[in-house]
Amino acid sequence: MKKPPIIWTNVIFFSLSFLAAITLVPWYGFTYGYTTTHWLVFVCCMFYAGLSITAGYHRLWAHKAYDAHPAVQWVFAIGGAFALQNSALHWSSDHRVHHGQVDDPVKDPYAATNGFWYSHIGWMLRDYQGDSYGNYANARDLQRNKIVMFQHRHYLKLVLLTNIGIPLVLGLMLSNTWFEVVGMLLLAGVLRLVLSQHFTFFINSLAHIWGSRPYTEKNTARDNGFLALFTYGEGYHNFHHIFASDYRNGIRWYHYDPTKWIIRAMAAVGLASKLKRTPIERIEKAKAETLLLKTKVRLAKLPLAQDKLTLLHQEYELLLKKLQTFCSVQKQLIEAKKDSMLEHCEKSALMKQYQELEAAWQTQKQAWLALNARLLKPSFS
Ligand SMILES: [Zn+2]
Ligand SMILES: [Zn+2]
Repeated sequence: MKKPPIIWTNVIFFSLSFLAAITLVPWYGFTYGYTTTHWLVFVCCMFYAGLSITAGYHRLWAHKAYDAHPAVQWVFAIGGAFALQNSALHWSSDHRVHHGQVDDPVKDPYAATNGFWYSHIGWMLRDYQGDSYGNYANARDLQRNKIVMFQHRHYLKLVLLTNIGIPLVLGLMLSNTWFEVVGMLLLAGVLRLVLSQHFTFFINSLAHIWGSRPYTEKNTARDNGFLALFTYGEGYHNFHHIFASDYRNGIRWYHYDPTKWIIRAMAAVGLASKLKRTPIERIEKAKAETLLLKTKVRLAKLPLAQDKLTLLHQEYELLLKKLQTFCSVQKQLIEAKKDSMLEHCEKSALMKQYQELEAAWQTQKQAWLALNARLLKPSFS
């Protein structure tokens, strides 16, 4: 099949910016040396551009995982132009297609099934979208958003203004010499742009190739705590693909997900609201079901498969039952806490029941995990 035409503007831009980042940036460092101020501004600009994409483009606009105050939306709209990843409208529309058609080599705009290079950057180097570029039928809600549309209409101007303006103004404000201004342009301008772009691109490429799949194996998305470090928490991509409207990607408190923390912090001061969270019951059920399917596939190749399968299903049903009972009492407890008419002793009785059921579910969960491991051992009979 004939390949679509090359988009030369993108090819030249990505090549030149990358070349400048690997030649000019180190050359200045070795010749003049970067100051602490340079590095501090670089880190701040990395986070500003990165979080504008993850908390703004991705979780706010593409997935509507929460609502944000217009002031926050302006900050993200400007930061998104700074990150140079197309307008929020275009980005979100593409991303919604990615979720709806994930892994489809033709329909998914950055299908990982087409390989690392294609999903990382290749999809932007040729006109793969053709006539459908500019079709925003799946983003009517965003077309009604004045801030998103302002950014979309004035995108190029905002790109130039932020990418040259921010490093230049900060350079002029914080430098003592013209050389230091150049250093700022190189570090907070060039290196920051190239790195923040490739860090986001890793979510489309590496986060669909490298890592585990605890929540679903129906698509290529992976959970990878290491990638989360570079992607402002977006490395928990397997969870994200199944529960896309959750404002969190890393759901445990120790999961590195600064995007989740910033959204929570904004909610605490009234700048964000309606944070969507997936109920624990659905999360745990998805995990148990995925493990069940994995073990079943592996068991089929072992002796006494039928007996083992029966045992596995029994434990699985028991786990779901305990999870369900625990979650229904959890709901009751949440309601009870809101009810000021309820007696204190009734609330504490419910609390006790809740704790007991949680312990019973956790014990069953351990037994379930242990059984899965034991059944797959060749010595087990
Ligand atoms: Zn994805
Ligand atoms: Zn997404």
